[in-house]
Amino acid sequence: MLDFDELEEIESQLRQVPDVTCDEVTDVKVPLGHQLRIFLISDLHVDYKQNKEWMNRCLQSLSHDVDGNKFFDCLLLPGDLCTSEDLFEEVMTTLTTAFHKVFFCFGNHEAWTRGEKKGTSPAKDSLEKLERIHEICRNLGVYTTPVRILAGKKNGTIFLLPLWSWYHSSWDTEPDLPADLQPPMDPQQRVSDFRMCCWTPLESSDFVFGRGGATSLHLAQYFAQRNEAWIQKVLELQALEGGEILSYSHFCPRQELILEKRFTYDQHVPKISGSQLLEEQIRRLHPTCHVFGHTHVGWDTSLDGIRYVHWPLGNIKEQHGQTKMQHYSGFLLLYDSGWSPLQFTHWAYFHDFMEKRQEGSADLAPWVSFGYATMYPEMRQALESRHLLQAKVDGPDGMSPFFPGGALNNNGGFWLRHASANVRWRLPPKGLELAAFPCENPGCLLCNFTQDQEGK
Ligand SMILES: [Zn+2]
Ligand SMILES: [Zn+2]
Repeated sequence: MLDFDELEEIESQLRQVPDVTCDEVTDVKVPLGHQLRIFLISDLHVDYKQNKEWMNRCLQSLSHDVDGNKFFDCLLLPGDLCTSEDLFEEVMTTLTTAFHKVFFCFGNHEAWTRGEKKGTSPAKDSLEKLERIHEICRNLGVYTTPVRILAGKKNGTIFLLPLWSWYHSSWDTEPDLPADLQPPMDPQQRVSDFRMCCWTPLESSDFVFGRGGATSLHLAQYFAQRNEAWIQKVLELQALEGGEILSYSHFCPRQELILEKRFTYDQHVPKISGSQLLEEQIRRLHPTCHVFGHTHVGWDTSLDGIRYVHWPLGNIKEQHGQTKMQHYSGFLLLYDSGWSPLQFTHWAYFHDFMEKRQEGSADLAPWVSFGYATMYPEMRQALESRHLLQAKVDGPDGMSPFFPGGALNNNGGFWLRHASANVRWRLPPKGLELAAFPCENPGCLLCNFTQDQEGK
């Protein structure tokens, strides 16, 4: 008789997954005696060589068989894997070999028209590029349509539902900073998507993509429309036979899940982040959990009874700043026969426990105001007259004292020391050294939060 591994091998040779035109929900059965695990990482951006190496180091920690427990391991990728078609194929081949099943929803970087396969011509527009990406997925057995995972009587049923989306500038409802606090950046020049994407087939008279930095609602509508048949099928099946929904998109559904403008260096980011139509679809679905990507600021929180998670790797510079946590600690194990507890993410914690959002506040954080004063000397006068350059920022910990929780919860060694704090819910890069948990600081936000969540 064939054992599970042999069966898997035969199956992988015959992997048949639906084309993105399919409206149906595909059933995937967790093999008998196996436990379902779902790992999550977004924004891998493997166009950076170091990111691909990091991914491979994490994969070295993956074992489907631990202490006699057999796992059925799934990976959820909410977009921005890379732009190059050859690299996309290579990395997806690695990932489909490492995991039993892989689920993918495209991001803006997959829609860039460049990055054609060697010896072929570039995609003529972003829709053709996404077709090429989806063709690679289908050939490798990567799911890009809704799947129902049947994990057996005890472990229940989970729907994995991709929600296509794109940003539109009207999603940003936070008032802009006053004119004298606006850095002189030209958004049309700054946003690479405006140069790298091409939407000719969708252009109508009032279609806007990039002019003056604006994006009209058209793309958001176009992609949201594709989700409708999927949403209907998933809700019908759920009503009939039960199960929890785990939906995933690349773009951000809600304002509460991004940094406020007073904390954001690039004031244009909220205008290229999210979709209102996506949020409306999520409200209708009411998933147990919605996973998103794109903003590169990790987030894990509950809003109106839905858990929202963003777990990005991001670019090299971000890995030494805003995505430190993910970079040090690895992929998130979101589901292991049950949902992971909420993970500590800096900004979700800040707004959930320390300070309510103050949208429209012009009280710039010191790292923003000092950054502007350095980059744009012409702004100095306005910043000074608004008393935004009074903080003392030349201490040993740089800007750490101004981040939530002060220097003790943000200094250089803090993140490294806490990389392994919740390693039970990670696929860490191989070689991660375990540190004592909880740490020696009784006021540690991360340790206290993590202990609290574990106890629930
Ligand atoms: Zn993105
Ligand atoms: Zn601690």
